[in-house]
Amino acid sequence: MSAVLPSSAALYDRVRRVIPPIEWPVFVDDIDAILKLKRQRNAVILAHNYQTPEIFHCVADIVGDSLALAHKAMTVDADVIVLAGVHFMAETAKLLNPDKTVLIPDLAAGCSLADSITAQDVRLMRQRYAGVPVVTYVNTSAAVKAESDICCTSGNALAVVKSLRVPRVIMLPDEYLAKNIARQTKVEIIAWKGHCEVHERFEAADIRELREAHPGISVLAHPECPPAVVAEADFAGSTAAMSDYVARHRPARVVLMTECSMSDNVAVEHPDVDFVRPCNLCPHMKRITLANIRSALEENRHVVTIDPHVTERARWAVERMLFV
Ligand code: SF4
Repeated sequence: MSAVLPSSAALYDRVRRVIPPIEWPVFVDDIDAILKLKRQRNAVILAHNYQTPEIFHCVADIVGDSLALAHKAMTVDADVIVLAGVHFMAETAKLLNPDKTVLIPDLAAGCSLADSITAQDVRLMRQRYAGVPVVTYVNTSAAVKAESDICCTSGNALAVVKSLRVPRVIMLPDEYLAKNIARQTKVEIIAWKGHCEVHERFEAADIRELREAHPGISVLAHPECPPAVVAEADFAGSTAAMSDYVARHRPARVVLMTECSMSDNVAVEHPDVDFVRPCNLCPHMKRITLANIRSALEENRHVVTIDPHVTERARWAVERMLFV
């Protein structure tokens, strides 16, 4: 951590494109307190791409998608990790950092995908499809990961499936991710019926309307969107892949079919790109605020723990993914 904390003016410079000046004073006190608390507690903040810009650009130390956060969580040199994201991400950080204190600012920050499946469901799938390996999206509880052969993210799902060198896999729990991957491989994919409540709301008709309203617009979609949406898009990829696409192609105008804060966070880096924003909010991601990050550090809450009966097997499934 640097010796000198950045000034409020320097921090505002980072986000002036997406936070109006009238809103900025609301954030200053919490940001200042969080920066000091991080230093006092030797803490780092990991923030997902769907976090709001005042968190993502002003207090986070490590940012990215689920895969990047999982990778970087392994290299964190700190006593405390605050996960600005949802509960399964905090569990993954804890799995990879068993000796560190991992905090999540709001215990109710869940995920419709993680809630769509239990460990017992996975055991029943294994009985039904004996011998077929289980690939589990990281958007699941540690208990579900523990029943799996290997995890995946939206960024590496295809590579993970291919790495198994089998004709058939079970891919849990996101039906749309599974179907979008199935279009790119000859491996037969058995899906579960889980959906992301943010991405399932996009429709192919939305894209057609956008193209009419904004001729020439580039449309990027997250693979948790329904296959018909992905088929209409110019590019489909994880949040990290979408961000890379904008950096590489510099489209004059772009729409990201994903959670709302993603566009704000990428727009900060690319003032020359016009972002059209028909997006959907994730109510779980939005439970994380500067105020509860501050409370988490002040009061050491909420400490993430994982059932010791599942820890080793869940960590194995995550670590195996990281080496694909
Ligand atoms: S955006 Fe979707 S997948 Fe991500 S945390 Fe929210 S509900 Fe879960």
